[in-house]
Amino acid sequence: MKGRQDRPSPPSRKLPRDGPRWGPGTLSVHAGDSPDLNAGAVVGPIYQTSTFRFPAPFSEAGAGHTHLYTRLKNPTLTQAGAAVSALEGGEEGRVFSSGMAALSAVVLGRLHQGDEVVAPEDLYGNTVTLLKQELPRWGVRVRFVPASQSSEVGEHVTERTRLLLVESPTNPTLRVVDLAAWAKAARAAGAWLVVDNTFATPVNQRPLGLGAHVAMHSATKYLGGHSDLLAGALASGPGLLGELDAFAATLGGTLDPLAGFLLLRGMKTLSLRVARHNENARAVVEELQGHPKVSAIGYPGRASPEEERICRRQMKGRGGMVSLVLKGGLPEARRFLRGLSLFQVASSLGGVESLVSLPLETSHRAMSRRERERRGIADSMARLSLGIEDAADLVADLKAALRSV
Ligand SMILES: *Cc1c(COP(=O)(O)O)cnc(C)c1O
Repeated sequence: MKGRQDRPSPPSRKLPRDGPRWGPGTLSVHAGDSPDLNAGAVVGPIYQTSTFRFPAPFSEAGAGHTHLYTRLKNPTLTQAGAAVSALEGGEEGRVFSSGMAALSAVVLGRLHQGDEVVAPEDLYGNTVTLLKQELPRWGVRVRFVPASQSSEVGEHVTERTRLLLVESPTNPTLRVVDLAAWAKAARAAGAWLVVDNTFATPVNQRPLGLGAHVAMHSATKYLGGHSDLLAGALASGPGLLGELDAFAATLGGTLDPLAGFLLLRGMKTLSLRVARHNENARAVVEELQGHPKVSAIGYPGRASPEEERICRRQMKGRGGMVSLVLKGGLPEARRFLRGLSLFQVASSLGGVESLVSLPLETSHRAMSRRERERRGIADSMARLSLGIEDAADLVADLKAALRSV
């Protein structure tokens, strides 16, 4: 026990209780601050430990001891969860070993046999797999809402609906969904609305403020921001995520503390990075609209005046993703990719470096042609994740590649 009482108390630093009202830049830097850590270090230590020493034998002190084993709780991960929660304007936050681990924890933790889920068809591929292939095995029915009926989502909700799950902007067409309308339908049914906020980031869009119950992230993307880790996150208002903790620990998708540290480090620059991602995507759209080799551009708000109105209501910035439909087909798209030198051909998104991929060959390769056509995913569509390089260099690279098509 020596050391516990003798340790000099760290210089204390008060975080104002109104922290969540700070701007996104301040929140990005300070959301993960933890004033109680041992030596008052400005950057919290990495608790790279699987287990924790008990202050006394279990029978005497175990019940009240807060840290037992990292799969259940770890200070670095608590800090990362608090940071995500603050960025999302929430009260509770948790981190996971991947976006899919975060999603599995909330979807499987929330649902029981006989429950129903309502979701749009446009969702991340593995999310669709979870809903379409796995949930029916557990006796859960999923009702998919066609994009054209998205604003009448309430008509798909029944008394059995326990969860609504939505993404906006969508992948790869970058359509937007009216999150407040979905939140209203969820609340009317006593169900939870879970919003996958990966593409938007909390800098551009805060689902909890629009009435959603849970904001979910593949923190692998913008929150981490450097393409060097896998992580997931959930944020909610008060009293929701606590319900899932025991189940999440059983499911076992705990983040490694070192990855938790990298995530915290990445999030400090989130606001700066997202401002640049937003700018670069907008520059690409402006420079390439009307280009003779480009037949359509996917970008939030461009699909219709109605979607533009939704964007104005729910998004501060439009994000760093753009899809280009080239004139021609798959051969033209492949030639375009070969012509790029700055953009790297890779799946994933949200890192500091610009990436490009063909949905037909990556995220949507398992989908039938008819299905892709119905959703507006052309063979010649290239999905761009704009990094934080200089816009002029990115535009020049894209234009040079288009010349080679
Ligand atoms: C990448 C991604 C996921 C899955 O996240 P992982 O971290 O890869 O598990 C979920 N949703 C969206 C929108 C994504 O882009």
